[in-house]
Amino acid sequence: MILLSGGTGTPKLIQGLRRLIPDEKITVIVNTAEDIVVSGNLVSPDLDTVLYLFSGQLDDTKWWGVRNDTFSTNETLKKLGINEKLMIGDADRATHIFRSELMRKGTSLTKATMQLSAAMRIRANVLPMCDEKVDTMIKTPQGEMHFQDFWVGAKGEPDVLEVNIKGIEKAKTTREVMEALGSDDKVIIGPSNPITSIGPILALKEIRGILSWKKVIAISPIIGDAPVSGPAGKLMKARGFPVSSLGVAQCYGDILDMMVIDERDTADENEFPVKTVRFDTMMTTVEKSEALAIKILDLFRDIG
Ligand code: GDP
Repeated sequence: MILLSGGTGTPKLIQGLRRLIPDEKITVIVNTAEDIVVSGNLVSPDLDTVLYLFSGQLDDTKWWGVRNDTFSTNETLKKLGINEKLMIGDADRATHIFRSELMRKGTSLTKATMQLSAAMRIRANVLPMCDEKVDTMIKTPQGEMHFQDFWVGAKGEPDVLEVNIKGIEKAKTTREVMEALGSDDKVIIGPSNPITSIGPILALKEIRGILSWKKVIAISPIIGDAPVSGPAGKLMKARGFPVSSLGVAQCYGDILDMMVIDERDTADENEFPVKTVRFDTMMTTVEKSEALAIKILDLFRDIG
């Protein structure tokens, strides 16, 4: 099973899916367009969340960082006058140092992630979407800013005029991602932000091309007219999509075989360009994530 993932909605689904499928049969292609260097080390928020999930370290109350982490370095830096852009825990920082030390020696992000996975005894195949640096830039009335400056620094408050995924046109799909896609038929586009988490992955032409002949099921992160959490609504609007599950379907276009929307969603199924199925998609417990994962596996059987 292959999943396209950001750092919150899809990892919630993976938490349930892992109860049904062994980790070694799961590949996760992870968004890296929100990555940022903090205090000299590369933070890859979505990759980190997925790695911590599979290694049993994730703080799944926040969906980022290591459970029970301390913030000694971050606090000491603050006393010295350095306010880091992101709250980075001490154990979390060790991950960033591990990754960045390898990359400073010339290792690619993919290989560094594979080494991190091995060191964390992860059996799933966790892959960054690409090795090149890609930056999600948010154009606001106050100027253009990195996604992290918009979402963490400015708390997502500025109006969004445009979203640009800088560097994506030069990014290439890696051999590892191509191999994973070549060896599995089923792809889940998890309930992640369609613009800043899934958008960059699908903007890689080879990935999008291959997905058009795979069995692809997407789960909407939007219920009714609002996302469950995060800035997806504002960003979809800026890209000209309606803020609804239909807007998510339009965002993904013809690569979808099926779309799961929430049972509370009032959208008209007849308006969708793809077959839609309703289910409870609010993953407030692991049991609910598992129930959604069971449903998705059933749907793949229906697709045949
Ligand atoms: P990010 O990288 O932290 O932005 O995380 P993702 O892109 O992976 O996930 C953010 C999206 O997950 C948001 O658009 C939310 O609406 C969606 N989301 C979070 N929890 C749930 C849930 O329980 N159910 C559904 N359907 N969507 C969810």
